[in-house]
Amino acid sequence: MRILLLGGTTEARRLAGLVAGEHTVITSLAGRTTDPLRPAGELRIGGFGGVDGLAGYLRDADVDVVVDATHPFAATMSGHAVLACAAVGVPLLVVRRPGWTAGPGDEWHRVASLDAAAALLPRLGRRVFLTTGRQGIAAFAGLDECWFLARSVEPPTGVTPRNLEVLLDRGPFTVDGERELITRHRVGVLVTKDSGGPAAKLVAARELGVPVLVVDRPPAPAAPLVSTADAAVTWLRTLGR
Ligand code: NAP
Repeated sequence: MRILLLGGTTEARRLAGLVAGEHTVITSLAGRTTDPLRPAGELRIGGFGGVDGLAGYLRDADVDVVVDATHPFAATMSGHAVLACAAVGVPLLVVRRPGWTAGPGDEWHRVASLDAAAALLPRLGRRVFLTTGRQGIAAFAGLDECWFLARSVEPPTGVTPRNLEVLLDRGPFTVDGERELITRHRVGVLVTKDSGGPAAKLVAARELGVPVLVVDRPPAPAAPLVSTADAAVTWLRTLGR
């Protein structure tokens, strides 16, 4: 089979490694990161040009199935995949790691969007550990009363808060490391998207009694959905090609 794997996540890289020996896998990345980790199989980089561009690509590249293993917050790409696959008649599977749920000792505040997080933030704390990724930093630009430690893989672009320290780093992170970071910077509140996956920062925040502002996910795309790369392999087998 020829599989187009919409990537940019750990699950996508893992899935590429699992199926590249058996099928032709083309991982697609948006091109946001200058030095992405290379998956097994083929790699293409850059947008498709909207729904029509993606539909054209599926036809031209003779794609048999699309697996959308993009980040849960990459809602535009996921929406395009639903529409393009329907237009061309190509099956689509979505791989989404489960979101996080609060446990005993957590003080979480869930909001629907980055803008809602920015509106609530000053009431929760003024020294902020911002882990929403570089594209999420602009939403907090108007909050002059807060100080931000913003961690991202690439430097932020666009507007940024006035009181900002940028920490360029890529996970995985450890609980010890996150605890040290939160303590050293006297962080009063952690902001995160509900990305799911390893969550050392959430464990450290719980241990230190730091409140967490959690931005909820956009709705999942309307397509069959599994939560792991292994489950995706099983689903792909059901196509019987
Ligand atoms: P997005 O807002 O949903 O997509 C915006 C546009 O970027 C899409 O319309 C598409 O352009 C292009 N695009 C996005 N993902 C693509 C892919 N895998 N391959 C080719 N083109 C892609 O996406 P985003 O939130 O900016 O995320 C971009 C990438 O970063 C994704 O691969 C995602 O998995 C990864 N990522 C995102 C986050 C996050 O928090 N959003 C976090 C970690 C990793 P065209 O319309 O031209 O096709």
